[in-house]
Amino acid sequence: MGHRMLSHADAPGDAPIRAVVSELLWVIVPVGMVMTMLAMLLLGYSHALTLEERLVTRMQQVVTSRARLAGEPLWKMRHDQVAAIVEEILQVDPVVTGTVYDDTGAVIATAAKHGVPPANREVAAPIRYKNGLIEVAAGRLQITYSRETLWSQMRKEFALPAILAVVTGLAAILALKLAAHVYIGRPLKNLTDTIVRSRREGRHYRAVITTQNELGALARAFNELQEANAAALAKLASLASEDALTGLPNRRGLHEQLKRASGADAQERCNIAVHFIDLDDFKAINDTFGHETGDKFLIHVAEQLRLVIGPRDWIARLGGDEFIVVQRDAADEATARALARRILDAISKPFAIHDKKISARASMGIALASSVQDDLEQLPALADIALYHSKARGTGTVSVLSRTLLLAHSRARELEMALQQAFAEGQFEVWFQAQFDMQTGRVSGFEALARWRHPDHGLISPAEFLPLVEKTGNSGRLARFVIEQACQASARLLALGHAGLKIAVNLSPSELADSSLVDLVRLLCERHAVPPSALEIEITEGTLINAVADTSAVIQSLRGMGVSMALDDFGTGYSSLAYLRRFPIDKLKIDKAFIRNMPGDKGDVAVVEIIAMLASTLGLVVVAEGIEREEQIRAVRSMGLQIGQGFGLHRPEPFAGIEGFLAACEEETTATHLRAAG
Ligand code: C2E
Ligand code: CA
Ligand code: CA
Repeated sequence: MGHRMLSHADAPGDAPIRAVVSELLWVIVPVGMVMTMLAMLLLGYSHALTLEERLVTRMQQVVTSRARLAGEPLWKMRHDQVAAIVEEILQVDPVVTGTVYDDTGAVIATAAKHGVPPANREVAAPIRYKNGLIEVAAGRLQITYSRETLWSQMRKEFALPAILAVVTGLAAILALKLAAHVYIGRPLKNLTDTIVRSRREGRHYRAVITTQNELGALARAFNELQEANAAALAKLASLASEDALTGLPNRRGLHEQLKRASGADAQERCNIAVHFIDLDDFKAINDTFGHETGDKFLIHVAEQLRLVIGPRDWIARLGGDEFIVVQRDAADEATARALARRILDAISKPFAIHDKKISARASMGIALASSVQDDLEQLPALADIALYHSKARGTGTVSVLSRTLLLAHSRARELEMALQQAFAEGQFEVWFQAQFDMQTGRVSGFEALARWRHPDHGLISPAEFLPLVEKTGNSGRLARFVIEQACQASARLLALGHAGLKIAVNLSPSELADSSLVDLVRLLCERHAVPPSALEIEITEGTLINAVADTSAVIQSLRGMGVSMALDDFGTGYSSLAYLRRFPIDKLKIDKAFIRNMPGDKGDVAVVEIIAMLASTLGLVVVAEGIEREEQIRAVRSMGLQIGQGFGLHRPEPFAGIEGFLAACEEETTATHLRAAG
């Protein structure tokens, strides 16, 4: 036997219980018995003493009275009379022998009882004769008597009390046992059983109160405790499934309700749509106005949602700025979309904070019950997938989960998982797309564009993998790779005798916020022996505006080194033109969207002309992106835009193709020159 471990097996209910009553009896019974016996012994002893005393006295009296009778006959020597007295003495019960001696000590008369137990006590009295005034000693009467009768009498007297004592003792024990069972054993067992059962079934059972004694009070107190615990647990449970800020069900509450709804009949189930709402500007509100205002704003949003949903619909808050609306009567996608619109409108209603009015924008994803089997609890996760899609499309959009979305999502997850391996195994490549001086027709530089050559999915475009790279925190790794490739390409170009060709590298917002970028660029330029002025960095318009504070120092340093800066996708963001003046940039890349419909779309032409004018005022070079057709080349040239880029001029390709491409360009321009000269 090793140590006794304190495990749950020691808890009441598992270990065998020894009744307290039995344990008490083990102590009470022997002690009681010993006490009773002692008492009886004491009683018997004292009784025996009394009886003995009485016997002695009686014998004394017998012998004295008979001695008085024998005085005269002895003195007068009437020996037959003396013998008669002696014979008579034998009639007295315990007397066994009687003997009369004269004053000389001679035996005058003696008698003995036969067939009786031997005598063991003797008692004597002097025999005197008295005549007138004289009194003389005539002799002595001696008797012996047995104490046997004393004992038999004792037995007779004590048998009944002893039996009675034993019987009452037993009865007392029985009564004790019964009482202990009723007043101690049963209440305790009740209580223990209730505790064990409560624990086993995880419910708060009440103990039955059977006595009014302390144990009854204990049971009552236990019941009160049970009630208090049940109430506390119920409160805790509701807290656990409730969002403390808005009082709406939280994630857990949502799942409980959806689980319940999963049990509803098919018709009910089919009509459920889950809307996933994500506020787009919440972080900004929190950062600008503080958390207290942020909380108020969330409560406001919850109220707006309550106002806009149907009587049978309900809302949950998943935490942060994520809300869920469960729509109960969304028979089809159109109904769900209609509610989503109303929700977006309600959320965007201005809300007064301090002296400002703010209105939030949100993105939404919807999943209809038809997209799951029976398990409605999956709907929020599916709606989240649709939401992810909405966010990629831009704020204020609503997407309904479809098969295509789901496939795209699972492909994205698959690619996300494959990213580490892609980096480790060098599956990324950098392709180059030429930029042309639109006036001379010569190549002025290249844009470095990342590609992922996936072993199963083939070539994957940056539009697809960049968000995953960003999400998994691998932007820096990719940027390092692309810059290194750009430096390498630049060094090769220099070696081939193509001086002055810039290579533009696209950088993600997070990269521009990282001050180590400056050292990285310097290091890589040094390593490949290329001047930093051979590099250009493209920043998308949104990035620049959103991260002004973080990035401008990095941009300044890079420019200080000679790296030029281009503002990419110009015209798609929401920066005001006034910003342009404040930012240290060298180039504007007009977004493809404005070039696409040129020169037919007069509006686009007007916008591009204005941008070109503004750029020349600010001394910025303008690049037209996405040039695909001959007429676009002519339009761009006629508008005086300096640089052009697009599939119509050159399609991105690996560096291996660039040397041949440059040679071909040279020949062509020479031919054109010759033709122009000729
Ligand atoms: P972007 O900076 O606007 O790059 C130009 C994109 O337009 C490239 O797509 C290019 O292949 C494409 N393009 C060029 N000429 C034409 C044309 O005539 N018509 C059309 N329709 N498209 C044309 P790509 O390579 O798929 O890159 C997509 C975007 O991914 C880029 O847009 C850029 O923002 C980003 N990106 C590419 N490489 C990198 C990189 O290494 N790092 C980062 N952070 N972003 C990159
Ligand atoms: Ca670019
Ligand atoms: Ca662009």
